Amino acid sequence: MTTIQRLDAALAAHIEKVEHYKQVQTLLAWDARTGAPRKGASYAARAKATLAGELFKLQTDADFGSRLEEAAQQEDLDELSKRIIAEHWKTYKRWSAIPIEEYQAFVQQQGLANAAWLEARAANDFSIFAPHLKQIFDASLKFAGYWGYEQHAYDPLVQQFDPDLDKVTLDRIFSELKSALIPLIRRVTSSAKQPDTSIFNHPFPLEQQRQLGIELLQAIRYDFDAGQFGATVHPFSSAINPYDARLAAKFVENDVRVSLWSALHEGGHSLYTQNIDPNLIHTGLGIFTSYGIHESQSIFFEKFIGRHKGFWENNYFILQKIKPETFGSVSLDDFYFALNAVKPTFNRFEADELTYNLHLIIRYELEQAIIAGEVDYEGLPEAWNDKYEEYLGIRPPTHLEGILQDGHWSAGFGLFPSYTLGFVYAAQIHKVIRRELPDYDHLIESDHIETITGWLTTHIHQFGKSRSADELIKSITGKSIDTAPLIHYLTDKYEQLYEL
Ligand code: ZN
Repeated sequence: MTTIQRLDAALAAHIEKVEHYKQVQTLLAWDARTGAPRKGASYAARAKATLAGELFKLQTDADFGSRLEEAAQQEDLDELSKRIIAEHWKTYKRWSAIPIEEYQAFVQQQGLANAAWLEARAANDFSIFAPHLKQIFDASLKFAGYWGYEQHAYDPLVQQFDPDLDKVTLDRIFSELKSALIPLIRRVTSSAKQPDTSIFNHPFPLEQQRQLGIELLQAIRYDFDAGQFGATVHPFSSAINPYDARLAAKFVENDVRVSLWSALHEGGHSLYTQNIDPNLIHTGLGIFTSYGIHESQSIFFEKFIGRHKGFWENNYFILQKIKPETFGSVSLDDFYFALNAVKPTFNRFEADELTYNLHLIIRYELEQAIIAGEVDYEGLPEAWNDKYEEYLGIRPPTHLEGILQDGHWSAGFGLFPSYTLGFVYAAQIHKVIRRELPDYDHLIESDHIETITGWLTTHIHQFGKSRSADELIKSITGKSIDTAPLIHYLTDKYEQLYEL
């Protein structure tokens, strides 16, 4: 357990207030995405804008800034207090660098861009979204200028989400993955041995999918007393604090895989939050340390546990019990092969674990092309389609299945790399866990997942934001981010499954 000794009372009270605003914002975001009435949306948006404005003022308050600066010079400060101060100082500097009118205008633009994206989707017309996207990206780049950077404007943008990464590192990681994965995908998809995935497309009533989600979350020991399980159109988890870590899955009647993976994935995010040291609540450090590490924990539960055959030896009966007419006569081996089927898709969200990273790499490369001026907004949809054809051998027939599929760009640059970084980190962690818990397979087969979660809590979860991504990964693996374990894991697994 952590103790914070020397933080000035007035400073601690201001920080707690900041944290309360953030918690309420997260709760409102949860509400908006899990059933808030549509007619109230514009009024809720106004209330949220007021809250965001107040939070901005609290975080950039000049008096708060000088207290932080003063506290940072205190020599006898304990390590944790130093971290708390550094975290809020970073936020103070970041937001103080932007004129408040520009910040407010940007928040409003984000809302309008999101609405334009929905409209563009409804009309399957990218030109409705393009001018908004240009505005958002121009503003993002302007902010990058305010924040300053040594090498690339992309660096401060991606560092909003993954503070330890920059464009040079991302270029290296993505090019290593591309060279390994593209030929592997070609070998897998041209293999004579292919699974039958039709079992997943039988109608599966939504209420039964909810039951499946609950049982899978129980299997990974999600604490329902410190969370909530909801339904949404785009699965997500809400990290309010360790005692309130909610998640929402997506239910699609003709593809049970969507709810199955979203429960395990978001469950992994929420387990991370639930295992953060509660003493960090109200300090600003009681939350995931970076988007990449947050994603590494969801991916760990989705892939390194949820795609482990031993996990299904224990849990396949749930599907067989809920839907005996579909799964009763399908063997575990056939089910497992179908669950790990590889097939290039247009949609990132439906992608299998082998082709998944290419969807993210494509988005990253297009962001770089825009910044470099190599592609304009009109040419963006075709540039998108060309990359799908080049890397995955498929060309989206419409923009709805292409560039209009996800709305992340309405918020700005730099959000996509975290998804791939998470997988890279998770594979590094998985390699070490296997060494430190030599009975890893047996723990999963014998339903002792809590031992694995305990290891993750000791080495990652408990620290929240009090250790950086790089500090965590170095203390676990002895090195920084490294693609070798992921490439090795995927190559080994798919060569065996597809008998290459
Ligand atoms: Zn995630």
